[in-house]
Amino acid sequence: MSKLSWAERSLVSVWHPCTQMKWLDQHPPLSVVRASGAWLYDEQGRRYLDTISSWWVNLFGHCYPPLMEAITRQLYTLDHVMLAGATHPPVVTLSEELSALTGNELGHCFYGSDGASAIEIALKMSVHAWRAQGYSKKNQFITFKGGYHGETIGALGVTSIGLFREAYQDMIRPAIEVPSPDSRLGVTSETFSLQSLEEYLALHHEEVAAVILEPLVQAAAGMIFHSTDYVRQVAELCRQYGVYWIADEIAVGFGRTGTLFAHESAQVRPDFLCLSKGITGGTLPLSVVMTRDEIYRVFYRDRFQDGFLHSHSYTGNPLACRAAVKVLQLFREEQWIARNHVNQERWNVWMNTIEQHARVRHFRQKGMIWAFDFDGAPPDFSQRFHEKALAYGLLIRPIGTTVYWMPPYCLTDEEVQFLVQGILNTLEEF
Ligand SMILES: *Cc1c(COP(=O)(O)O)cnc(C)c1O
Repeated sequence: MSKLSWAERSLVSVWHPCTQMKWLDQHPPLSVVRASGAWLYDEQGRRYLDTISSWWVNLFGHCYPPLMEAITRQLYTLDHVMLAGATHPPVVTLSEELSALTGNELGHCFYGSDGASAIEIALKMSVHAWRAQGYSKKNQFITFKGGYHGETIGALGVTSIGLFREAYQDMIRPAIEVPSPDSRLGVTSETFSLQSLEEYLALHHEEVAAVILEPLVQAAAGMIFHSTDYVRQVAELCRQYGVYWIADEIAVGFGRTGTLFAHESAQVRPDFLCLSKGITGGTLPLSVVMTRDEIYRVFYRDRFQDGFLHSHSYTGNPLACRAAVKVLQLFREEQWIARNHVNQERWNVWMNTIEQHARVRHFRQKGMIWAFDFDGAPPDFSQRFHEKALAYGLLIRPIGTTVYWMPPYCLTDEEVQFLVQGILNTLEEF
């Protein structure tokens, strides 16, 4: 029997993502042995408020009983079956319900297992669709500066964050990068970004397959908010110049920005909608790419190789699909979108006190996302803030000098006050 803690054993054999392993020797990982609601419990029995919904996935908190029950029932009925040449009730129900939520405009659902694979699917599908229509030159992508779309090789091509790309540069086919509006810096306005996009499209639309955009919020770039008008105009330019629009709602989908899907608030429908993260409420990995009938029809041919060729072993896993069906049911029956609107107003009374802090800049909120930038941050700010916040019972991981929280929707007023006090206390340490 080992006397080492889980955290110590983890350092020996677990290679953690998005982590310099050497740093973990000084700062061991949080070892979470159970979770409930918004709280994570470590092996010493201490608890931490999960202010970032564990990388933005746990919408209703952890171990939410209705979700647990739905998954358990499914587990004892049908655990898994391959989706090539077979189908099952959870995947059919989920596809029908997701389609209906787009007014059946995006009536065809193709499944993957995580966000990056959804992006790969959308990229491949868009190029393949153009090629099948006789436009094989349309194989480039346009992304926006700071856009994050995952870290597999194809997805990195459209991910415009240097840090994640540098070491893999030679393997990547980089997308065209258009300036992106960032109201914090005040250098690139939405108008300038749109002009740059239009200039490029005017000259090169014959080589462009698709434009990929995170609607309303560039999340991994540091919670940079865009207007609904900007999103609408990007979509409009895509239509005007005959290129597809891929909406990456992996972070912002499922109510995060105030509507079920972020693009709804801009009243435009993308050609491809990528969903993952919150889709199963943080229970099981699943992603989906939804698209239009016109695009689906392009692949509907006699020859096998004219179909869309992409597969993952766990495509459309029944447990994950059942969890997603339950998530949609919870949105309907428990009215989470409406509740979030009411809660965010009330919570802002407490949240807004953070804005008064002398070193807080650009305090901002959209739906269930709050963020600010820390003025005069030391170089290791992110790591230090993370650690100091843990001492106040908060799990929070700043992106560079941007502190943000994207809490589970189930927070109570007391938990909100705990969160605000914890952030204020942490700020005092700097
Ligand atoms: C997280 C994320 C991805 C990648 O999803 P993974 O499941 O981590 O591969 C892609 N796009 C956006 C906007 C994301 O936030």
